[in-house]
Amino acid sequence: MTTRRPLVAGNWKMNGLKRSAAELEKIVAAAPALPQVELMVCPPATLIAQFAQIARGSAVAIGGQDCHAQPAGAFTGDISAEMLEDAGATAVIVGHSERRQYHGETDAAVRAKAEAAARAGLLAIVCVGETRAEREAGRALAVVGAQLDGSVPDHGNIVIAYEPVWAIGTGLTPTPGDVAEVHGHIRARLSARFGAAGQGVRILYGGSVKPANAKELLTIADVGGALVGGASLVAEEFLAIAGVYG
Ligand code: PEP
Repeated sequence: MTTRRPLVAGNWKMNGLKRSAAELEKIVAAAPALPQVELMVCPPATLIAQFAQIARGSAVAIGGQDCHAQPAGAFTGDISAEMLEDAGATAVIVGHSERRQYHGETDAAVRAKAEAAARAGLLAIVCVGETRAEREAGRALAVVGAQLDGSVPDHGNIVIAYEPVWAIGTGLTPTPGDVAEVHGHIRARLSARFGAAGQGVRILYGGSVKPANAKELLTIADVGGALVGGASLVAEEFLAIAGVYG
């Protein structure tokens, strides 16, 4: 049987100033009491170097929220995977629905970013998920399947995050049955494409995970952790979610 250490990653989005390091310090302090789970904080790029310094030597990993596909060049405002690695990140989120929606990122662009992550030695957290209209049309599995086919690279260290777009920041969550169905579908597709290696890929659930619903969502078969947005900004809430694996 494949054992996968669960991962609970916090996506801070465009939130956080230097003083927000106080939240990370609490997470670092609590990490030794949660050895069964891998903890990760993905702050805005401006905080990565500072956060990596604070987390150095601890069990808390630091990740970026996006990267450019190229290692360097004339791409004003963009940040490469190599730069994230240089700043102390060990992972990067790619293809978050907010990037797909507000920055027009296609599956091919997301795949190129995931390949850039691999080139720089970073773990890529590849996000997929259907919109409300797609779910209501009965197309959730087809949409997620197509995103997987188009966004997941052939090589590299990857984690998949299933994040239904309609569940992000809304307080709404899918039923446990629906989560199980999509995660099972993702697992089957990964196994079909990567064989035994597909069994070892962690599949996170993301979308309005809170301390109150974490146990129900994170103990579903094939849910290998969580990508947490809003609740990750407060250390106590983030740690309570990770504590499901404690
Ligand atoms: C996210 O943005 O990845 C996310 C899951 O957000 P929230 O937990 O706030 O729904």
